Amino acid sequence: MRTPDELTSRFRAQGLKVTPQRQAVFRVLHGNPTHPTAETVHQAVMAEMPTVSLRTVYQTLNDLAEMGEISRLEVGTGSGRFDPNVEDPHHHLVCDSCGMVRDLHVEFAGIEVGDHLVSDELPPGFTVSGAELVVRGRCAQCGEFAALAEAEI
Ligand SMILES: [Zn+2]
Ligand SMILES: [Zn+2]
Repeated sequence: MRTPDELTSRFRAQGLKVTPQRQAVFRVLHGNPTHPTAETVHQAVMAEMPTVSLRTVYQTLNDLAEMGEISRLEVGTGSGRFDPNVEDPHHHLVCDSCGMVRDLHVEFAGIEVGDHLVSDELPPGFTVSGAELVVRGRCAQCGEFAALAEAEI
């Protein structure tokens, strides 16, 4: 993702309004590895600017996604997540319990699904343009909570 200053120039070049609220959204997203939801971004921006509306945050996120500055992810955690890391292609790891989303840097072709490698299962002549892998499970922290809850019963 571009820096908040670069995004400000790009927005202006596209004829889009740049307000201090929008710039706060840029800052929250920049270098953010947590794949936040619109609501999480809204909360973070409100810490700086209590009057910013969720609608403004949504609109800014949509504009950024349309410009290709961030990507929108659907990883089954209930609400859409936003990923500022668009330069570096990657997959995702999701905790089904707390909704944590992390980047996963793996080679897709070599991944075994069931007993087969993805690369071996492609029909002849099929040209791959992209592939997204979501690995689901439970993070270490959620695993510990589950173990504690069981121990207390
Ligand atoms: Zn978790
Ligand atoms: Zn990511």
